[in-house]
Amino acid sequence: MSMQQRMEEVERRIQAACSRSGRSREDVNVIAVTKYVSLETTAEAYRSRLNHLGENRVQDAADKWRALSGGGEEGPIWHFIGSLQTNKVKDVIGKFTYIHSLDRLPLAEEIQKRAARLNLTVPCFIQVNVSGEPSKHGLSPNDLSPFVDALKAFPSICPVGLMTMAPFESDPERTRSVFRALRTLRDGQLERQGAGGSIRHLSMGMSNDFEIAIEEGATWIRLGTILVGKEEE
Ligand SMILES: *Cc1c(COP(=O)(O)O)cnc(C)c1O
Repeated sequence: MSMQQRMEEVERRIQAACSRSGRSREDVNVIAVTKYVSLETTAEAYRSRLNHLGENRVQDAADKWRALSGGGEEGPIWHFIGSLQTNKVKDVIGKFTYIHSLDRLPLAEEIQKRAARLNLTVPCFIQVNVSGEPSKHGLSPNDLSPFVDALKAFPSICPVGLMTMAPFESDPERTRSVFRALRTLRDGQLERQGAGGSIRHLSMGMSNDFEIAIEEGATWIRLGTILVGKEEE
């Protein structure tokens, strides 16, 4: 299947999920996750107007960033979606606009330090381990509110929403409760923050389960395999 065909098929499914759940298509943003594909395919995705690109490894992303964004033109908007080691933050800030994996204070401290040096404010998603799987990164739901409060000490970080990774299920319907739980946590934060609170977005849903995530309120879905494909090394 060509990228164009994949995009059309995904778009059709996004629209169907939106109309099933009474949501507006504009409220669902798509990140094309290019971590499984070459620079050439990544460039093709960007040319095909997939403007938001997601990568989870700093090293792999560096070449793509140089090729597509290093020349001073506008380039894609990059999302860092992987777990982020503190010592890699310096390579992320200034290249990636969004970070989807903020889950601990030492990481926040480092983001704050590097962002302040460049005079940037970094929109970050707080990653929550809703399913409680030990292999997954993220805060436990009980730690979310204290973490959000602690982030007030970091003026260069703007927490824009919550992110989670659902366990892989062959029946994606089984992930619904995970997505619903993240939305409930977000609603709780909206209430705590009052009007003008910044934590509004939900980054959830991947190739296997994005329609369920949309039905449960996702505002950013992260699509790799189904949208840009997966290439062998
Ligand atoms: C790889 C990855 C994705 C995309 O995965 P697909 O199943 O290929 O759509 C989304 N989010 C995160 C955090 C990832 O690491």
